[in-house]
Amino acid sequence: MIAPRTVLTRLLTHPAFILAAIAALFFGCSWLSGGTVQILTFLMLNILLAQSMNLLTGIAGQISLGHAGFYGMGAYASGILMKTAGLPFVVSIPLAAAIGALSGYLVSFPAGRVREFYLAMMTLAFGLIFREVVREWDDLTGGAVGLSNVPSTTLKNLSVFGVTLDAIDYFRIVVIVTAIVMWLVHNFIQSRHGRAFYAIHASEVAAGCLGIPRAGTKRQAYTIGAGMAGLAGGLYAHMIGYLGPESFDLARSIEVLVTTVVGGLGSMAGQILSAIVFTFLPEKLQVFAQYQFIVYGAILAFSLILLPRGLAGLLLLPPRFIKPASLRRAGTAGVAIRPVDSDRNAALVVEGVTMRFGGLTAVDDVSLELHPGRITALIGPNGSGKSTLVNVVSGIYQPTAGAIRFFGESITGLPDHRIAGKGLLRTFQDPRLVPRFTVRENLLLGAHRRYRTSGLAAALSLPSAVREEATFLASVDAVTRMAGIADVADRPLESLPYGYRRLVEVGRALLAEPRAVLLDEPAAGLSEAEMALLARMIRAMKDAGLMVLLIEHHMDFVAELVDDVVVLDSGRVIYHGDIEGMRKSPAVIEAYLGTSETEAAHA
Ligand code: ADP
Ligand code: MG
Repeated sequence: MIAPRTVLTRLLTHPAFILAAIAALFFGCSWLSGGTVQILTFLMLNILLAQSMNLLTGIAGQISLGHAGFYGMGAYASGILMKTAGLPFVVSIPLAAAIGALSGYLVSFPAGRVREFYLAMMTLAFGLIFREVVREWDDLTGGAVGLSNVPSTTLKNLSVFGVTLDAIDYFRIVVIVTAIVMWLVHNFIQSRHGRAFYAIHASEVAAGCLGIPRAGTKRQAYTIGAGMAGLAGGLYAHMIGYLGPESFDLARSIEVLVTTVVGGLGSMAGQILSAIVFTFLPEKLQVFAQYQFIVYGAILAFSLILLPRGLAGLLLLPPRFIKPASLRRAGTAGVAIRPVDSDRNAALVVEGVTMRFGGLTAVDDVSLELHPGRITALIGPNGSGKSTLVNVVSGIYQPTAGAIRFFGESITGLPDHRIAGKGLLRTFQDPRLVPRFTVRENLLLGAHRRYRTSGLAAALSLPSAVREEATFLASVDAVTRMAGIADVADRPLESLPYGYRRLVEVGRALLAEPRAVLLDEPAAGLSEAEMALLARMIRAMKDAGLMVLLIEHHMDFVAELVDDVVVLDSGRVIYHGDIEGMRKSPAVIEAYLGTSETEAAHA
């Protein structure tokens, strides 16, 4: 038996159903009363707003407490541009979206420097300031009295190309615009851009180490989200012909946020359901007008407790981040690891690196080199500074002293995504993946930096974008076969046992087509069989000419694989050489308190 959620999801997302729904709205509206058409127009705008908030909050994990401000920017921009400057509707609406987008971009500009919380506060401040400016700037906005006589269907003075529009024409335009925007957003989400948004949401550190720039990605999310809100605002302006500051206050921002949360963060279909509820509910609540926000608060609390994934979580399957069309086109001819062309400078050189945290010296004047086609083990007791060294080399920490060169070029202190961009990839001691993504979606994140097609190409689902995605999906297939995880490729990672996370994380690094990989305890928690698969992957990296750094405690595992060994103790290199020499080294034996080497190795 097929689960009801599967049936509902398949139905609601089936192109035939969607086209039928659009056609029903488009043609059916002529039988509806004027009041109903108006509220349906308003519903479309609420859907647009919820989709915009969903992209920003549900997908990218960024909060906006000033969405009514972006909405209002668009509304006043289009209203004023048409009324005062006499611009045509087809120009003022795109400008409303552009002005919304610009406000979003400017508000998020400090994204690289400030923490999440401050960014949310920036949006709150923006919303509050917007409202005050509207109220005070009488000449332009009509102040507290509002802006009336905006060309609109209600006043019968809105025309496009010489044709005067009535409420039904306007509704049809809004339906088509909403449908097109949702199609674009849907394509965008199911591309590497949407996956990057979600990766930033799940773990900024992991995203950075895959070459996804965190500040740029957040700014992009705010810009697109605010642009959509501006578009919705522009369309709102010409519905009734009047704009008043109270339509764009904090309460409105909160309402949009509540709609999105109740719909289910991340789900586009959930947003439609929720927008329907929140468009018709206030009508029903007229009697309790002054208690409206108590009701909203109660709904929010109720939904957070009972429906943590919103209406969508209750009714629909979780959203996916790969276009089925790309999946169907993906061949099987992908390569898991492309051989690296080596050049004279090919080496990762760590020179005298020191990392202090306050009084604690975690890494103390460490030097080592990695070379193509060689596996170097980094060994040492817990707390000896191994992970810290990887964090410094991969750009998560700025070293207190020392230099790092990769292919002859200094990468000391570069941000993590720039270092990943040069082909230096790492995995984490505690795997950092996107639990809600499938194995395949997680793996595709690795290929992020290799894509060439733009966000616009992805949104328009241009053949070039579909083809590129299909190429990388073929490589993903090759990696899943190599890692022995092909049979679970379409399972969400959170539903799989722990060992898979390690294999997926190593596979994800391979999809970046790295020139060097730093593996932080990749075998920890793996079964014997999984360890054999991991060893196969590491050997393939060596054969392809990658530089490999392997942090590992299992001596048997290490002994079979490695060419060189570096032993750390309290942040210092106490041994550098081959594995035989390490076994005899007095310093190493001493560091492990004179215990026998096998015990030591498992310490
Ligand atoms: P290993 O990976 O070899 O087990 P780590 O590199 O994780 O060791 O840790 C080395 C030392 O640095 C430990 O004493 C640890 O507590 C300390 N350390 C690591 N990261 C930080 C940090 N962000 N702030 C303060 N101390 C840290
Ligand atoms: Mg560690």
